[in-house]
Amino acid sequence: MVKAMLRYIKSFLELLYPEKNICQICNSYEESINDTYICKSCLSKLEKIEMPVCKICNKSLSHNPDLIICDECVREPRSFEMSKSLFYYKRIAKKLIHDYKYCGKTYYYKLFAYLLVQYMKEINYKDFDYIISVPLHKIKLRKRGYNQSKLLAGKIGKYFNIPYIDALKRINNTKKQSNLSRYSRQKNLQNAFALTSNKMSELIAGADILIIDDIFTTGATVNECSKILKLHGANKVFVLTLAR
Ligand SMILES: [Zn+2]
Ligand SMILES: [Zn+2]
Repeated sequence: MVKAMLRYIKSFLELLYPEKNICQICNSYEESINDTYICKSCLSKLEKIEMPVCKICNKSLSHNPDLIICDECVREPRSFEMSKSLFYYKRIAKKLIHDYKYCGKTYYYKLFAYLLVQYMKEINYKDFDYIISVPLHKIKLRKRGYNQSKLLAGKIGKYFNIPYIDALKRINNTKKQSNLSRYSRQKNLQNAFALTSNKMSELIAGADILIIDDIFTTGATVNECSKILKLHGANKVFVLTLAR
């Protein structure tokens, strides 16, 4: 009797929350999915970044145990203390992020935030005073309708109880970074960001801040954001991206 009742409640809940056991990527139904948004098979296809990596920017290093910082971080010191990324930006991860940003698959934010939360717990990367996201220029935001990194940052912040703040704004509608060379990327971003208000500098003074972005390519974007935050008194700046 009780069993039948429980089964009834369970199927009733599934009617209310049908997405609960459905993989957001391949749409397959699997009871073990539960609140994870992804089936085992799809999860196994996402390629996690493997050690050894640069201690600062998470770039894969050759298997030289003496090497702890990559040549790029040696050449150009970063304004952030550390950047971590979950996946290699290729194949399935690349396609998913593309669909998330450009094909209206906004709902991927739950899956991505879930994966990032698991990763942050795994590497103990969660002691921050504030969580922020790389801002989009208002024209781009209007066009896309949402800021993909802000959705992630908000969800992650809620999970760990870290306040999300809109600390930065984009003041220049910069060219698309992916079409530019390394040097042009840096040049393109000069004066691209500013604090959203003077009040923000009181808030971030002395604070440890985590910046969320979707992809880490050369790190120029998050570096520029870190620079502004430090300029206004932030103590330490950390970065987390889905892929690199
Ligand atoms: Zn799947
Ligand atoms: Zn590095």
